[in-house]
This record gives sequence, structure tokens and C-alpha cells, in this order.
Amino acid sequence: GVLVVGSLNTDFTVYVDELPRPGQTLCVTDAVTSFGGKGANQAIQARRLGVPVTFVGAVGADDRGRDYLSRMESEGVALRVTQINGCATGLGFVHCTPDGTVSSTVISGANARLTPADVDAAFAAIPRPGLVLTQNEVPADSVVSVGRRARDMHIPAVLNAAPYVPYGDELHGLFQYLIVNEEEALAYAGCEHAPGDIAGWQRLAVGLRRISPEVIVTLGGAGSVYAGAKGQKVVPAHHVNAVDTTGAGDSFVGTMCAALVRGQNIDSALKYATIAGALTTMGAGAQESMPAGSELFEASST
Ligand code: ADP
Repeated sequence: GVLVVGSLNTDFTVYVDELPRPGQTLCVTDAVTSFGGKGANQAIQARRLGVPVTFVGAVGADDRGRDYLSRMESEGVALRVTQINGCATGLGFVHCTPDGTVSSTVISGANARLTPADVDAAFAAIPRPGLVLTQNEVPADSVVSVGRRARDMHIPAVLNAAPYVPYGDELHGLFQYLIVNEEEALAYAGCEHAPGDIAGWQRLAVGLRRISPEVIVTLGGAGSVYAGAKGQKVVPAHHVNAVDTTGAGDSFVGTMCAALVRGQNIDSALKYATIAGALTTMGAGAQESMPAGSELFEASST
């Protein structure tokens, strides 16, 4: 199965015509509450595709945390979650504009309190996973711990380095796969300007191989690029009517991991991840619109 060490948040999403300008107050009649956080989203996506998933994370001692955990259990995700007193469960504030673009502020809360000791305890307690996945919504020293454990146990590991967090050389050699979006790719590459074409993104992905042997840069509606030892690939996105891109990246990453742990090759994993990402943009919310296995295979055959 897949071991996911990561974040969970309650998200409050507002739909607005445009983002508030500095100093402006926008009024909306309602917000949509949903379950989010990259770690939990990716764990749920992988689980929906039928692979066993264990989630390691932290919540506060509040109702939002309890509700979230019972939801993950109902999805069939095995939990090793630390409850932290005097700390809130993670919160996300999301603005969604009519073209489906999302902008958010995340309050880490309990997610920021997940320690390397929690990571070590989790690895010691659960059966050996086939793949390990983490993201940058938990503390950097915990991310490094995940990578070190995986390396020491010779388990392939995936880092979705989102959002951007600077590391020195600590990450080098720890994660077999690095998955980043455009902004994160630019930040890790130390580039100020986005490349003007897909070939430029491919060069950027090749450059990021100093961090991990296999790199995927996701480019939203433009698809993704892959760079590995055996060469490079461009994977175009599917043309869909995107209504809310929240969770597209998480769906992509969770699907990649489910495919890889099932022994699929990188081409096949990228193919399914690209379909899952597209399907997730077609519905509101993140987890709500992530496909189950049957939907994914149905979509892939048409
Ligand atoms: P993130 O949400 O992390 O920024 P992306 O927006 O790059 O991630 O999306 C991840 C993947 O989901 C993309 O590589 C693409 O395959 C798919 N995807 C995202 N947005 C769209 C879209 N508008 N139409 C079709 N596929 C999309």
C-alpha cells in the first residue's frame, strides 16, 4: 500500500467574480465548507483507486478534526493521527474565480506540529509500505525524515513539493520522484520567469533532476512534463470544461502513487494521473470531484 505523511484542512471556499483588491472587502452570501489539505486529498484519491492507504498526520482537539477523521475512515483510509491539545485542526480559505482558478491561504494549525518522531513512530508501527508520499504542508524536518526512512528501507518515495519550501541539499537522494507545479518548479529552479514554451518547461524539469532522479512538472490546462534517466516526455492535458481546479494537482499526485504502487510503468501512471486531474476540474471542491477507479477506467476507454 501507500503511506501518506501529510496535512489535512477544513476548507472554506468562496466563489467570487474577481479577487479582492488590497484594502477591499468582498461580500458573498455563502461559503462552501469542504475537506481539504494536500496530504488527505492525495491519500483519499489513492484509496479511491483501490490501493490500501495509511495516512499519518495531526489534528487539533476539536470537532473539525474529529469529523475529518471519521470521514477518512469512511473512505477506507487507515489512520495514524496525533491529536494535539490547544491547537486547531488545519484551515484553508479559498477564493475561486469564474475561470476555475483558485487562490488560497492555509492556516497550518496542527499540521505544523507533526514531528520527525511521529514519522519514525509511524514507520515502526505499520507494515512495510510499497510507496511513501509526502508534501510540504508538514514541517520540513518531518519531510526530510520521511525521505530518510524511505531511503534506508529502500522504499520508493514521492515528494509533492507543494507549496514551495526552501531546502538546502538535504533532499538530494531521498525521493525517487519529485512532483511540482509551475510556480514550485520555478522556485526550486531559481528562475524568475516562466518559460515561454513546453521545451522550456522540459529543460526546467531536467534541471530539477539534481533533487530527484524523476521529475514531473504539472502545467495546469497545458498538461505536464516528465524528466527521468531514460528521457523526457510531454503529457498534454485533456480538453474539459473546468469549473473548479481545486484538487487537480492532488488528484494527479494521488493517482500517480496508486498506479506506481500497483506496478504500472511511468507512462501508464502519467496517463491515468492526467485523466484523474482533468476529471477533478469538472466538479466543485477537491475530494468531491476526485474519481473512483471505475470512473477513471471508464474515462480512459473513451
Ligand atoms: P496544481 O493544482 O498543483 O497547481 P495543476 O493545476 O498543474 O496542479 O494540475 C495538475 C494536473 O491536472 C495537470 O497536469 C493536468 O493534467 C490536470 N489539469 C489541471 N487543470 C486542468 C484543466 N483546466 N483541464 C484539464 N486538465 C487539467
